[in-house]
Parts: sequence; C-alpha cells; structure tokens
Amino acid sequence: MKQIGILNLQGAVSEHITMLNHMGNIHVSLVQHPQQLATLDGLIIPGGESTTISRLIKQNGLLTPIQQFAQQGKGILGTCAGLVLCGKATTHSEVELLNLMDICVERNGFGRQINSFETQLDIPNIGQHIPAVFIRAPYIAKAGENVQQLAFVDQHCIMAQQNNILVCAFHPELTNDNCIMQYFVDLC
Ligand code: GLN
Repeated sequence: MKQIGILNLQGAVSEHITMLNHMGNIHVSLVQHPQQLATLDGLIIPGGESTTISRLIKQNGLLTPIQQFAQQGKGILGTCAGLVLCGKATTHSEVELLNLMDICVERNGFGRQINSFETQLDIPNIGQHIPAVFIRAPYIAKAGENVQQLAFVDQHCIMAQQNNILVCAFHPELTNDNCIMQYFVDLC
C-alpha cells in the first residue's frame, strides 16, 4: 500500500483525493505541515495559483522539507501550477520555486483562462489517447539533459520526468483516465 500525500494549501486538491481513492491500494493524506511528509512515499503538488501556493509553502515552513523529501528519492508529481513550482526558473513571476527539476517554465504559456483546452496525448510507456485538460497551462521552455521530455503540444514540452520527479502542464485528475496517476504511484 503506497502512502501518497497531497499538498493541501490551495488549488485542485479534492479532485486528486477522488482519483487516488478510486484507484485503490493507496493511502491518501493531506499535507500542510512538514511533519506530515514523514510517512509518505510520494507527494502531489496540485494545480492552482503558483504564486499563492509558493507563498503558503514558505509560510508553512515546507520549502526545505519538500526539497529534502525529493532528495531522498521520494516521488513528486507537480501538475500545472505544481509544474511551475518544481522548476528552477519561470517567466512572469517572482515566486520562489522548489527547484526540483532542471527546467525553465513559461508560465501561462498557452494563454489565459479563455484559451483553456482539452486534447488527447500519446505518451510512450504510459498510454495512448490520454485525455488532458489544460487550464492557463504552462509549458517547459528549456530542459536540462537529465530531463526526459515525455509529451508535447504544438511542439512545446508539457510533460517531463527527472528520476523521481514527474511534472505535467495539464490536469490528469480532472478526467476519468488514471494511467498518469498510476504511472506516478508506481514511481513512488
Ligand atoms: N497559470 C497558473 C499559475 O501559473 C496555473 C494554472 C493551473 O494550475 N491550472 O499559477
């Protein structure tokens, strides 16, 4: 049984709980404070507002503990705003990032709320025709050589992995397809 935590500061938290509970054999918990990381195999940093989540990460003393969690090889999934926060640099924002992955992120790279869209992705080793919902989504503008770029939309990288860290610019928790979530849980 895998212990998966969801960073519960702001954003799409309940949708992740629902999906993980449906998958079974996973113990789900919510994380607001550093000590809640101790028993976890993996942590999800959800979508929302990266500026707000970043501020709350600092306020709750979670910045260094999440970095240490990642250094221990525990799994981290960052979706949308969570992807931004996992990066080492981003545009259009002053926020302090977690710097867990060697990527530079174009925040709101696909435009504003009105430019939100849904598409299907074929991702090697994960699945085909995977539904993906993009909401004010970022993309990865630059990735280091240790980063595996897993999927693209309009030639922009929108999903990547660096060892135990997985990020996607879209919201896998907003669909009924749990193959990306299962891939993450297997990584933890
Ligand atoms: N554009 C948002 C941000 O950068 C992310 C949007 C989302 O998570 N759906 O904070």
